[in-house]
Amino acid sequence: MSDDLFLKIIDREIPADIVHEDDELLAFRDIDPKAPVHILVVPKRRIPTINDLAGDDAGLVGRMVLAARQIANDEGLADDGYRLVFNCNDNGGQSVFHIHLHLLGGRQMQWPPG
Ligand code: 5GP
Repeated sequence: MSDDLFLKIIDREIPADIVHEDDELLAFRDIDPKAPVHILVVPKRRIPTINDLAGDDAGLVGRMVLAARQIANDEGLADDGYRLVFNCNDNGGQSVFHIHLHLLGGRQMQWPPG
């Protein structure tokens, strides 16, 4: 078994509330939501951090953002707005080392973030 938590979700070794799946992405609800809607958009291929992205990954990252936009629309967040976040390494607050795009919505977000 992999020690990558999100690969275990992708491989259905542990359960998750999945809201979107395609050939290269999986999106599921965060187990500890920080907003009324909190969904993680994850590539099926493991890339540990944003620092590990290659130039060839530009399309993948773009498709992560477009998937998040579609999910936000499906969740009824488009008009009021929402936030998309990548955390990177310790100072960025990253705790799972398999890149993921946070989609947060359903409440007023604050700025600057903590
Ligand atoms: P990070 O802190 O790395 O940016 O975000 C990791 C996210 O994964 C956190 O928001 C955390 O709540 C979520 N998370 C951690 N373990 C699980 C899990 O087993 N299932 C799901 N659905 N989310 C998880």
